[in-house]
Amino acid sequence: MLDYYQILNTSPSASYSEIKLAYHALLLKHHPDKNIHNANSNSIDIALIKDAYVTLSSPISRAQYDASLSRRKQESLVPRPAQVVSLEEFTQLDTLGSDDTWEYPCRCGGSYRITETDMEKGLHLVACRSCSEVIWAGYEVQEDEE
Ligand SMILES: [Zn+2]
Repeated sequence: MLDYYQILNTSPSASYSEIKLAYHALLLKHHPDKNIHNANSNSIDIALIKDAYVTLSSPISRAQYDASLSRRKQESLVPRPAQVVSLEEFTQLDTLGSDDTWEYPCRCGGSYRITETDMEKGLHLVACRSCSEVIWAGYEVQEDEE
């Protein structure tokens, strides 16, 4: 989904007149007559800018766009694990500290790490330390019998 606010260089709280100003500034900037050197990319840019303006300049279509944008943002806040990995597949690291740490390699070359503290908190979602991948670490919560 395209971020029309970003395309127009405005913020989601921009007023109609701010959007209009931003639109005209962009049209001037991307006007084919002023950009003879990179004419190829301009037609796309201008079409996008016009789309963004048409959507955001009407209160009704802007409200609809805002609603779908915020729904989209809420969805993207919820991490989606790429795979489920049992803790048995993790490697326990030799930690000098008090917190036991387990590691699992990520396909990006980085690694996922989960600590005993994380597990006591009941955390299962583990983010890669190098990329945006998330996995679900499978383990049984051990009851303390002592
Ligand atoms: Zn990674």
